[in-house]
Amino acid sequence: MLSSMELQSLLRRIDHKGYPAYKDTRGSYDFRGFVLSIDHVQGDPFASPSKVSVHIKGAQAGFPKEYYKKRHCRIALQDLLLRHFAREIEKVSHKAGGSGKSGLMAVSRPRQEILERSACQITPDNGNLTVRFEVGFPANGRTINARELEKILFDFLPKCVSFSLYYKALDEKEVQRCVWLAEDQQYIREQLAVQGLTAFVANGAILPRESGVSGRPMKGAVVFASPASMEVELALPHHGPLRGMGIKKGVTLIVGGGYHGKSTLLKALEAGVYNHIAGDGREYVITDGTAVKLRAEDGRSIKKTDISMFINHLPNKKDTVHFYTEDASGSTSQAAAVVEAMEAGAKAFLIDEDTSATNFMIRDELMQRVVNRESEPITPFTHRIRQLYEVYGISTILVAGSCGSYFEKADCVLQMKQYMPYEITEFAKEEARVFAGEQGGAPAEEALAAAEPDVLRVIKPDKSFNDARFKIKTGGLDTITLGREPLDVRYLEQLCDTEQLNYLGTLIKYMQCHVFDGKKTLQQAVETVERLIADKGIGAVCEGSYLPCHLAEVRAQELFAAINRYRKLAL
Ligand code: ADP
Ligand code: MG
Repeated sequence: MLSSMELQSLLRRIDHKGYPAYKDTRGSYDFRGFVLSIDHVQGDPFASPSKVSVHIKGAQAGFPKEYYKKRHCRIALQDLLLRHFAREIEKVSHKAGGSGKSGLMAVSRPRQEILERSACQITPDNGNLTVRFEVGFPANGRTINARELEKILFDFLPKCVSFSLYYKALDEKEVQRCVWLAEDQQYIREQLAVQGLTAFVANGAILPRESGVSGRPMKGAVVFASPASMEVELALPHHGPLRGMGIKKGVTLIVGGGYHGKSTLLKALEAGVYNHIAGDGREYVITDGTAVKLRAEDGRSIKKTDISMFINHLPNKKDTVHFYTEDASGSTSQAAAVVEAMEAGAKAFLIDEDTSATNFMIRDELMQRVVNRESEPITPFTHRIRQLYEVYGISTILVAGSCGSYFEKADCVLQMKQYMPYEITEFAKEEARVFAGEQGGAPAEEALAAAEPDVLRVIKPDKSFNDARFKIKTGGLDTITLGREPLDVRYLEQLCDTEQLNYLGTLIKYMQCHVFDGKKTLQQAVETVERLIADKGIGAVCEGSYLPCHLAEVRAQELFAAINRYRKLAL
């Protein structure tokens, strides 16, 4: 390692030279208190900015061990430090200038969710801290302006580091609150299993968001309060007793008039697989971590998926045990989504009628009489929902505002009225009984064969991923481009951060190059990378000489879902 003085004299030597001379700055420099590492130098001032990292020894960063030993605490602390660092960096970005991206300083900006990110990492055994970010190395035209880089690295950066990354520089109470919240959230997650719950929504939670494009809480929203019959009290280790609505395992319906807050509740539950920051309004809304939002997605590709529990005897005699299509219909896409989520280990399904295929969800009595069973290939979800729970232990939370067919299947019926939840299970069940009587008794339900979808699909590697020129690009929350092939993930509604798309791309590339072998099933392949990441961290699947700074963790469920949508997947 060189000293910071050596970097300074190097910068003075290359000042006014052609831009490529910046490449010589690659390396690590001791800045006393931290090590600056220049990991990658951009090719010209207009290219993607240079990659830089700051490394601080645990003893110097000074955070108490109990704040980073456990995974959930460490991730919360990393997230807090990153937010502080980002605030400092923002103040000085572009304070140094020049052409193109000269003077830019940028680091991940986490939103409401707390995620493991490559941008800020603490090593659990020694507390060593690394922060990764980008700097646009300054130039005038293509001529190095090293004086400006000197300002950035020797003046701005040390200040940003010292104001945000050392325990002594931060408000102790704030750090403690952050870690304590993570412990409380983890406690709720563990209690879900203990108490037989799929989700918990605390009294006092704010569920709606400011707007369709903002994750921030709505101001002046109706505050959530549990119906008395569903209220549970949890004894959080730091917060103390917290009451809220416990949604039991099984089948839960959310009903209510239009615009009364049904979808908003479901969205909060979808997001509850992640922890949220204090002040989000959903910090105590916690959902089973394997829960998957299911929806219709016509046009997607489906590869060798066994959708026969829902769809059989298609007119063109298409095989639905090994179903393939490049252009799914609403119902086939939703059927595939159910089976794929089972393959991905989901223990809860979240479904909103707003985004479902009607013919997949229901077939009413009258339609059944007019179009007889033989000419209808679909066994609707109503017929499988109980089996999914009783045989596979998969709960469903379903928003159904317009159709009564699910009442008899439900263990719990929740009505949203003016944004407040009411439990109406008894009433709804009684009405359903009376209604069935008026119709001449409930229709005899056909006995259904046990649903045993074959989920043991073996994946072959796609050689194009090995190409040295292979690139991964992402576009917002919508697409990951793998080489030349776009992968559409816009309907994976539980992806919340563009950095997760970067990581999905990285994971898929790694799996294509190193894991898929034509022998492992998709489940085994995902388990292999999950184990690797659990052992060696988020960077374990990254190749190249340095860890990229824009990666955020994804759940196995999203990894399965993304792979399943890859149109060139080889089986
Ligand atoms: P539904 O699915 O029942 O038709 P939504 O959940 O889409 O209704 O909610 C309708 C509107 O009400 C949305 O604009 C949403 O932001 C707003 N909203 C939802 N919950 C609340 C609440 N607790 N307080 C205030 N406004 C809310
Ligand atoms: Mg709705």
